[in-house]
Amino acid sequence: MRSNVITKRSSRPGERAPEPYDSARRNFTWAEARAALAGLPGGALNIAHEAIDRQVLAGQGGRLAIRWLGRGGGERNLTYADLRDATSRFANLLAGLGVPAGSRVYSLLGRQPELHIAALGALRAGCVFCPLFSAFGPEPVHARMSIGEASVLVTTRALFTRKVAPVLDRLPHLKHVLIAGGMGPGLPPGAVDLDVALPAASPRFETVPTRPDDLALLHFTSGTTGQPKGVMHVHQAVVAHHATARFALDLTADDRFWCTADPGWVTGMSYGVIAPLTIGCTLILDEAEFEAERWYRILEEERVSVWYTAPTAIRMLMRLGDDAVRGRDLSHLRFMASVGEPLNPEAVVWSNRVFGLPFHDNWWQTETGGIMIANFAAMDVKPGSMGRPVPGIEAGIVRRNEQGIVEEVTSAGISGELALRAGWPSMFRGYLGQTERYAKCFADGWYLTGDLAMRDEDGYFWFIGRTDDLIKSSGHLIGPFEVESVLMEHPAVAEAGVIGRPDEAAGEIVKAFVTLKPGHAADETLRRELIGHCRARLGPSISPREIDFREMLPRTRSGKIMRRLLRARELGLPEGDLSTLEVDER
Ligand code: ATP
Ligand code: MG
Repeated sequence: MRSNVITKRSSRPGERAPEPYDSARRNFTWAEARAALAGLPGGALNIAHEAIDRQVLAGQGGRLAIRWLGRGGGERNLTYADLRDATSRFANLLAGLGVPAGSRVYSLLGRQPELHIAALGALRAGCVFCPLFSAFGPEPVHARMSIGEASVLVTTRALFTRKVAPVLDRLPHLKHVLIAGGMGPGLPPGAVDLDVALPAASPRFETVPTRPDDLALLHFTSGTTGQPKGVMHVHQAVVAHHATARFALDLTADDRFWCTADPGWVTGMSYGVIAPLTIGCTLILDEAEFEAERWYRILEEERVSVWYTAPTAIRMLMRLGDDAVRGRDLSHLRFMASVGEPLNPEAVVWSNRVFGLPFHDNWWQTETGGIMIANFAAMDVKPGSMGRPVPGIEAGIVRRNEQGIVEEVTSAGISGELALRAGWPSMFRGYLGQTERYAKCFADGWYLTGDLAMRDEDGYFWFIGRTDDLIKSSGHLIGPFEVESVLMEHPAVAEAGVIGRPDEAAGEIVKAFVTLKPGHAADETLRRELIGHCRARLGPSISPREIDFREMLPRTRSGKIMRRLLRARELGLPEGDLSTLEVDER
């Protein structure tokens, strides 16, 4: 735990000052958060209505909702009115095909507006939407579609022929294939040409009055610790999306907001599609893959004011050095946030130096449906801390007592499992096909997250590790994040992944895998220097005994270091589910 606090930025002249944390928390109720949305007659609630129609009905139909940047330089702009029409056409198309409310509509699309149209059109029609990440191969696509019993798939011809055609005969629930971007050979009989069918459908549709507890979204977890789980969310989640976007991302209707996460993951759907639209701002959607130059150019040219990204991208930007930022006009940028993995303190300090703004780390999971713990604009940032619970969320550090009852540890500085008082609107309602597993996540009124953390005397939460990743060495419990963060302080280190390796004497010893910044040689001198650096900073019992240099670390497609794979490979164990593995280092 480090205490070099970055004090909150004072507002610029004429700028709205964010509400102080304590009063925001004190004054907050979920009932009021719900009342800030429109709803539909008779207590109905539909995400599409809140994200789109509410803005149009408030006279904001002409505002820019989505600004899309094509891989090859093209661009498209959609206003809120455009989005209302397009999603209504999509809903009419589903109705015309006889797709009943409650059906599972999947997408397998790149980052393109059709994904937003399909998602919000399906929700408008009362269907359940599940986005798949477009880089999945046929088997991961098949597994996710069959677990969720997909009955409609929206995709492109290229993605269909490469990823769905090989498994089509094993998808008995799939009834309709809708193709964006042009037809051609290799498509199944009855495939619908969206480019023709959408313009032909009516742009008026009466949104299905879904109940707040009706199923709306399916999301698969990242698969960092094991097989990905299918997580179910309801329409009511939009209440949390909206409230947390205001509090944790400081979003307002005037912002140009860029969430870099792919909508195939929960972050890209909750905060790349739904939340910003409920706020009424403009969202930037980039089709291309990460490339540092391009990203800096987008931040500058698109006048991005709020930026939400992930530690893996931040570490890649850091690796490139400070010069790439210098000389850019990033004066519009006023808030930056990060999620997905622990954000090393070094990254927060770096961003504050280079951008003049710290990254605000926040924590949540596919299961929580929305941001739960965050560094708020109105709060000082403690680099390395995830921040404090968002208003309406009660987070605690818990342990089981001798009777097996889950109890909160109220004193500061004690580690335990991070838990949330069950019952917030975006709480997941089940794991697809795994009722028992779901039930096991709850005990004594708490949702148990599977992450270990501690709370300090100011109420800030500090991530220690996942329960699965903890290292037990000579009686010490070591979280890999702490060791990785210390390694990253060294100027040669770009990224680090730390695991426990079984050892007769110590139980486990700490082993680190390290990638280097350009210009540093992976040799014995550096290895010794890194071990010495860790020993000086952490003490010998927590420091890595072994360090291996790697060109890359294995990560999930959502960008997380896969420690379970580092460990399995180190120990020659089965590698387990690799459907979400992005980079195979071997
Ligand atoms: P799986 O559950 O399939 O193993 P996953 O847990 O990585 O995959 P997600 O739901 O995408 O799937 O990720 C949530 C997890 O990511 C959290 O439980 C936590 O371990 C980690 N995480 C997310 N944000 C942060 C953060 N700000 N700091 C530390 N860890 C984070
Ligand atoms: Mg998880």
